[in-house]
Amino acid sequence: MNKPLKQHLIDPEICIRCYTCEMTCPLEAIVHDDNNVVVDVDKCNFCMDCIPVCPTGSIDEWRVVNTAYSLDEQFGWEDLPAQEEIADSPGGVEALDDAMAALLAEAHKGAGGRSKAPATAAKPTINMYNLGKPATAKVQGSYRLTKEESGADVRHIILDLGGQPFPVLEGQSIGITPPGTDAEGKPYLPRLYSVSSPRDGERPHYNNLSLTVKREEGGVCSNYVCDLKQGDEVQVTGPFGATFLMPDDPSARLLMICTGTGSAPFRAFTMRRQRAAQGANGDMIMFFGARTPDSLPYFGPLNKVPEHLLKKHLVFSRLPDAPKEYVQDRMMTEPEAIADLLADPKTHIYICGLRGMEQGVEESFKSIAESTGLQWESTRDMMRDEGRYHVETY
Ligand code: FAD
Repeated sequence: MNKPLKQHLIDPEICIRCYTCEMTCPLEAIVHDDNNVVVDVDKCNFCMDCIPVCPTGSIDEWRVVNTAYSLDEQFGWEDLPAQEEIADSPGGVEALDDAMAALLAEAHKGAGGRSKAPATAAKPTINMYNLGKPATAKVQGSYRLTKEESGADVRHIILDLGGQPFPVLEGQSIGITPPGTDAEGKPYLPRLYSVSSPRDGERPHYNNLSLTVKREEGGVCSNYVCDLKQGDEVQVTGPFGATFLMPDDPSARLLMICTGTGSAPFRAFTMRRQRAAQGANGDMIMFFGARTPDSLPYFGPLNKVPEHLLKKHLVFSRLPDAPKEYVQDRMMTEPEAIADLLADPKTHIYICGLRGMEQGVEESFKSIAESTGLQWESTRDMMRDEGRYHVETY
């Protein structure tokens, strides 16, 4: 019997035949005829470059098969064949790792195309643990970061990996699989959470890491994670993510814009600089939006980070006696500082948090860039191609 294999396919019912994937594929694995756009199984190496550029999501289809679908079979399709039954297939597990990669690609879509890691970023380890071989972490602590009156329940959760190697870099995520099954009786899929501690651990030189998790009403995994108690064991996968990373260059300038739990990777970036790059001369500026100080994760500790290390703009949209202010509004009050950053090839921009923040932030960048004679889209695309513009929204 043939060994089951995982095959990348395109859904012909959803594909709009824009051929962007075909133009993006570095291996010429994607081809088309008059009917369909298809993937050559012999050439595709799962680089995932085609995933973020697809405007419809039709590119993001995977099947575990005993015998690969040929190009001719795919050219003849009107719709995708169902997943065939594969006995004891490890491919299902691999396909789930691709699902994680696709989730990340979706989260990075806001960068406007292919994301690249900063040139001086350390090389990340990815996919070390998967659903078939997860790591087991023990909860060392879970602390509520937001006040009860604020209505938001965001928690700082510390996971101890014990003797299992789990190398993470700032900006990477891990997968957590909630126990149990969904309404159809299928095991729940893992969810991604950004690591909020630096590479040398929440506690320096301990094999632990932290997460910043918001309890979502009705959410399966966030409630599971937020309810975990000290000593509980949790199955984790990953690490995931190879582009939303910080530069190791201590003179790199970091502009970080976030809402809510989008602050998680920036906590890690800041701690990394505090611990490892003392004397770093690249400045760090943060625009961080929340409803109120009580609902802003890490409000107290953040305020203790010296301004010379991290210039903080904490922006609130629901203060009782003040007009609503969002991160993009505060950016508009700092046009000179932002224009200076945009013009500097040492600058790296990171945007993380709610997807809804992207548009307003882009509009502020555009307005500030154009007031200084810079064309925003070409500046952004150049920065992205140089690994200096990163978006992770969900
Ligand atoms: P799900 O069960 O998947 O539900 C999704 C939404 O549907 C929820 O908002 C829930 O309110 C709603 N819903 C579900 N069932 C019902 C129902 N019966 N009635 C009403 N509404 C319902 N999250 C963080 O908190 N911190 C992070 O650092 C973080 N990092 C991320 C990084 C990446 C790259 C990505 C892609 C996502 C990240 N997320 C993060 C989001 C996280 O992965 C989950 O999506 C989030 O925790 C919600 O998952 P859930 O299982 O709780 O919700």
